[in-house]
Amino acid sequence: MSDFTPVPPDSPKTPPPSPEEITRKLEDFIKNSLGGQVIFSRVEPQDLHARPEEDAGGGPQVDEMPVNIFDFHYKPADIKAYLDRFVIRQDEAKKVLATAVCDHYNHARMLREHKQQKGAAALEFSKQNVVISGPTGVGKTYLVKHIADLIGVPFVKADATKFSETGYVGGDVDDLVRDLVAKANGNVELAEHGIIYLDEIDKLATGGEGRSGRDVSGRGVQTALLKLMEETEVALYAPNDIRSQMQMMFDSRKGRTGREVVNTRNILFIVSGAFSGLEKIIEKRQSKAAIGFGAAVHDQPAAEDLLREARTKDFIDYGFEAEFIGRLPVRVFCEALTADDLFQIMKNSEGSLIRQYEREFNAYGVRAVFEDDALRAVAVTAADEKTGARGLVTAWEKVLRHFKFELPSLGVPDFIVDAALVKDTAKALERYRLEAHSLQTDVRADEVRAFAARFATEHGLTLVFDAGAIRSLVQRAEREGSAIDAMCARLFKDFPFGLQLVSRSRSQTVFHLTRETVEHPDKYLSELVVNSYRQPESSNSESHGS
Ligand code: ADP
Repeated sequence: MSDFTPVPPDSPKTPPPSPEEITRKLEDFIKNSLGGQVIFSRVEPQDLHARPEEDAGGGPQVDEMPVNIFDFHYKPADIKAYLDRFVIRQDEAKKVLATAVCDHYNHARMLREHKQQKGAAALEFSKQNVVISGPTGVGKTYLVKHIADLIGVPFVKADATKFSETGYVGGDVDDLVRDLVAKANGNVELAEHGIIYLDEIDKLATGGEGRSGRDVSGRGVQTALLKLMEETEVALYAPNDIRSQMQMMFDSRKGRTGREVVNTRNILFIVSGAFSGLEKIIEKRQSKAAIGFGAAVHDQPAAEDLLREARTKDFIDYGFEAEFIGRLPVRVFCEALTADDLFQIMKNSEGSLIRQYEREFNAYGVRAVFEDDALRAVAVTAADEKTGARGLVTAWEKVLRHFKFELPSLGVPDFIVDAALVKDTAKALERYRLEAHSLQTDVRADEVRAFAARFATEHGLTLVFDAGAIRSLVQRAEREGSAIDAMCARLFKDFPFGLQLVSRSRSQTVFHLTRETVEHPDKYLSELVVNSYRQPESSNSESHGS
């Protein structure tokens, strides 16, 4: 980029060039330098204003914002207590990580204070970068994310497998640092104290014993990462990225002539992986040593226990460069989660996905209640998946999928998730459909009763519909698609006149109606009238119409 002269800063007389002009200039520049073999995709002007502070008018520039990381005041136990709210188990990992993070940020603060006292000798400090080993889905990322949240530093996560050596196809490790700046809203100083988390680091092991390392480029990525972990300056604007270069021009035109490089010295690196096969290397080393000392060979320790014993040499034998693993002095182990741990995660973690499901149902006015026996049943299924807490999402998705679809429209007020539901979702769903149905019919039953009440007010005569009569009327209304009130008015249109006759001859004012009578109302009424004239003396007796 050396022969490219950025557009000079604004002079008061020249209006700023339009984005189109800049695009054209860049196009020319790239074609000239790279021989016209470049496909140039236009970047819309609003992309260039992606930084939130740019719209803030007179608001503070992010680079001027206070960097509160220098007020770091946590003690390791504070961090662990915070993690305990979200992360179940992993006590040892919590302690070691909390301590490493406190050391790291205390050092950052001291370094800054020290720098301010001119002439003081540089403080010695070796960075507490961390390797976390452990199976998938047991909280490795979750721990680091919550630490970053608590202390307020930007956090970037990536899979190591996506990188290749600079210059080859694939991601560039320097992008991680630029991503941190983006996460810090452009605050370079804050980004310089952020956390970079790289998962699947074990896939970078090459040529070591035991497992299928990736091709030689794994070594190149290790070297590139090593540079970042030690100390290097990463260009804030990626040299090979057009958008980044345009951003640079816009920033410089706006007088944002701040930092153009990011120093990686104080960035904390945390890497993780399952390291399968490492336990065999450790075991081999240990058994060699045991034989060497003439000791008896004990029972085979579990793979988990072996990983706890990992030493630098084991990682080198596994296929890491000595310098690389040497830059990761803190070793943490995360244990596999049992079904009981998964139950505790659902029951007690503040980030429990059960809370999420409750909120989701609640949005439709359905109060969801997850019983412990259901959580236990799902925990057992999820544990079988061997994907840690990730298995919970899969297991619940299977249980809840039809309920999530149907309940919002069924209009049931409560959703009780118990072990029976988990065991037989189809049966439970049918029960909810029935419940919803009878709830709907209940509303209609009220309408039948309301019709009777109005009839009493208007005619001074009481109609008592029994349960069978009500169900029959409701079913009829459903079948015919009629409104209850209109249907009753139609079915019983002769009742006012007929029942008045009955009432006059027998002094009867209360009439009990059954399924049969409401199904044949005219027949019922005419029999009643006829009988009342035939047997006028049986006054005051009620007709049951059956
Ligand atoms: P990994 O160990 O592969 O990095 P994650 O930390 O990303 O796994 O875990 C995936 C999800 O599972 C997390 O977002 C979190 O919701 C849940 N989870 C995993 N482990 C735990 C744990 N020990 N305590 C509470 N939740 C956990």
